[in-house]
Amino acid sequence: MKITDIFLSQEKTFSFEFFPPKDEISAVDFGINIGRLMKLSPSFVTVTYGAGGSTQERTFTLVDYLQNKIGLTTVAHYTCVNTTKEKVKNDLQYIANRGIKNLMLLRGDPPKGEQKFMPAEDGFMHASDLIAFVDEHFDFCKAAAAYVEKHPEAISLEEDLINVKTKVNAGADYLITQLFFVNEYYFDYIKLAKAEGINCRIIPGIIPITTFHQIERFSKMSAAKIPARLAADIEANKENSEKCYDIGVEYTINQCRELLDRGAPGIHFYTLNKSRAAVEIFESL
Ligand SMILES: Cc1cc2nc3c(=O)[nH]c(=O)nc-3n(C[C@H](O)[C@H](O)[C@H](O)COP(=O)(O)OP(=O)(O)OC[C@H]3O[C@@H](n4cnc5c(N)ncnc54)[C@H](O)[C@@H]3O)c2cc1C
Repeated sequence: MKITDIFLSQEKTFSFEFFPPKDEISAVDFGINIGRLMKLSPSFVTVTYGAGGSTQERTFTLVDYLQNKIGLTTVAHYTCVNTTKEKVKNDLQYIANRGIKNLMLLRGDPPKGEQKFMPAEDGFMHASDLIAFVDEHFDFCKAAAAYVEKHPEAISLEEDLINVKTKVNAGADYLITQLFFVNEYYFDYIKLAKAEGINCRIIPGIIPITTFHQIERFSKMSAAKIPARLAADIEANKENSEKCYDIGVEYTINQCRELLDRGAPGIHFYTLNKSRAAVEIFESL
């Protein structure tokens, strides 16, 4: 089923993102966690595509498994990194042949150590180029990425929004946001997006911070602003992992509640392949 068909019957969707397990032990762990998460009947799940296409085979295998063996509506992520038009045609035909109807189409990041994204020869410079190509050659439901605190390379949020609009015009059916912790960024973004003429669903992407290590990591990446109070509470309890976990989960429950109450069309949960926090948060919603 296409995600756009799910939208017809679900005013709000609840979805989970996974990455392909790296080894046998992680695969066993993943199986246990999937079992727990399935009980929540997610609207759909998504599987990431590793940097540089590093997980291509495992991404496709996992997507096939979740869709066809487990019976979950599954979205395959796919990027422009090292991708030619010929390769896109072959890869996506392979995906389509397995009954997958949903893609998340991305540009991908420049390789480590490089500042600028360089497309492959006969490849794609922007996600919008890939989306337009897929739209022309295939019949997939297509998602694209949005950044409520702007994409790090964009000069301004306004410029970034114009580029997101290009993705929608190229055929993206809905958007999922990069993770964020301050809801006002999302609500402001929705207003700006509407003014820009972006009318598709923009699903907030959410992750709970449950360890002090995550605070350090997110701060280093400067990926998203972390509220000072949340950071301070977790730092004050950094020797007590259960307390940190409780603080993070409680924050995320309140964050999700406010998003849903104020009109967000669902929640997309970055699970990091773990189930405990996701189960607790979703059950409480
Ligand atoms: C929900 C979600 C899922 C993700 N999944 C993955 C994954 O599975 N694998 C992975 O490797 N990465 C993934 N990413 C990360 C993503 O690949 C990076 O954030 C990447 O840097 C940008 O990808 P994009 O698709 O947003 O690119 P684009 O939409 O191409 O945008 C990238 C930058 O270029 C600018 N831009 C876009 N179009 C134009 C234009 N026509 N002219 C000038 N500038 C333009 C944008 O403003 C932005 O600054 C994901 C991100 C999100 C939010």
